[in-house]
Amino acid sequence: MRCIAKVDELECSAHGDCALVAPSVFAVDDVARVVGDGPRELLIEAAESCPSAAISVFDADSGAQLYP
Ligand code: SF4
Repeated sequence: MRCIAKVDELECSAHGDCALVAPSVFAVDDVARVVGDGPRELLIEAAESCPSAAISVFDADSGAQLYP
């Protein structure tokens, strides 16, 4: 299942954990930016690694929210 992530820029503290877990999906400058999509397991893992709970994950096809 392909999934997309969204970052709440107001919550992101730019520590970069998401980009360490999923470098093909996140790039971090002042805040994290979404630069790609990926499999559900990878995006959920990245979202769970975020200390600020700034990442939401959605099914790319249906748009259903998968995390949190
Ligand atoms: S892990 Fe969370 S707080 Fe850290 S850069 Fe990524 S989105 Fe921002």
